[in-house]
Amino acid sequence: MDVLLLFPPKYDDSNYVLREVGCDQLDPYLRNSTLLASLIGVIKPTKVIDCQIEGKTYEELKGIKTDILVSMNNLSDYKKSSKVFELIEAKKKICIFLPFIPDKKIMEEVKKSYAKDIIFVNDRDVPEVKASNIIYGKKEELTFSELPAPVHSILSVKKSKIPSIEIGRGCPFNCSFCTMARAKVGFKPIDIIIEEMKFFSDNGVKHVDLVDNNFTLNKKRALELCEKIKKQNFKMTWETSTRFELVDGELLKAMKEAGCEQIKYGVESLSDKSMEKNWKNCNLNEMIEKTKLTHDMGIKSVLYLIIGLPGEDGESIKKICRMIEEVKPYRIMVASFKPFPGTLYSKEIFNENESPENMINFYQKSLLEPVDFNYINSEQIKNYRDAIMKSFIKMKLKTRDLKFILFAVKKEGFKESLKHIKYLFSF
Ligand code: SF4
Repeated sequence: MDVLLLFPPKYDDSNYVLREVGCDQLDPYLRNSTLLASLIGVIKPTKVIDCQIEGKTYEELKGIKTDILVSMNNLSDYKKSSKVFELIEAKKKICIFLPFIPDKKIMEEVKKSYAKDIIFVNDRDVPEVKASNIIYGKKEELTFSELPAPVHSILSVKKSKIPSIEIGRGCPFNCSFCTMARAKVGFKPIDIIIEEMKFFSDNGVKHVDLVDNNFTLNKKRALELCEKIKKQNFKMTWETSTRFELVDGELLKAMKEAGCEQIKYGVESLSDKSMEKNWKNCNLNEMIEKTKLTHDMGIKSVLYLIIGLPGEDGESIKKICRMIEEVKPYRIMVASFKPFPGTLYSKEIFNENESPENMINFYQKSLLEPVDFNYINSEQIKNYRDAIMKSFIKMKLKTRDLKFILFAVKKEGFKESLKHIKYLFSF
């Protein structure tokens, strides 16, 4: 029996987004490989099509036939991605949703508009999902640490790309813009992480992304993981993410010795409102000090920035520019604010009676370009982004670190890299 597991095309039909070009990473839109792999254990697909990685459009799916179609759709794109069920011929059609947007109204809308078997995967402990009769394989619910090891081999390993290994999920913090805020924390067993790293290392991969919101959330576990990675002597480096207040010299040293090459920190915004809402236990001085400490330990830093959060103004942008100049990050990733329905900020932005369709449309528009809010308009956001990019480039010129641009030119060719240069600092 043919079982096709499908990742539909991106909402705007484009190929994968160049999320990070620093310039050693062309990371496709992050899919949940752990989930995919665990579903493989349960559903056993005979074929996988990942349209975002393969660059397939909806048009190209027309005429495909299979016995069972399992489509991993995204709640933020539920209308458009439902097209796959019309285009692909199958006796049974199953739609799997990740609870990316924990918004009750949207969940209800999805249930109404999808006349298929729907599986909501509640790996985030979202109460609305719980109430909606989740099915996850044989058990009603599985926690993250119970999921089987991912079967990375079903997807082709491209040595030039950076594969992701999801090592932890959820987050106890409460950042107002984030869909992960207050999501139940789960850790993948260390042995499984090592097994996955070994798979990529044995296949010639030189660098992996150990995906976790806060790698160092549990210091004891982080140290143990580093120790076990170090023992493997992989000829492979890795990167991960965490928060400034969760690192110290001991952890950074252990990470470096285990092959950590870069750490992504979320600065997001330095406006007073943002600091108050998202950084209760950390201030700008600590951010600066921890970034410098990261560099001192021989690890590169990547700073995530979001422009246009409530409270953003010229002053907060100047603070970011000064911070860039002072700490000299290896890379910055600048995003304009996208109000995910269900987040704390979205409650400030959307009217209580706003329809799910309007929320989703507004959110999707914000994925494509900066949008107007009542406290800041899209032009201001673009200008602020330009100011930050300029200060970053100036810093790179001053420090003569042109590696990231030269790498892009070498890797992509001059013409191609020019096309991608607009993504250099944004996603
Ligand atoms: S931005 Fe990071 S720290 Fe904040 S809630 Fe989201 S995952 Fe947690």
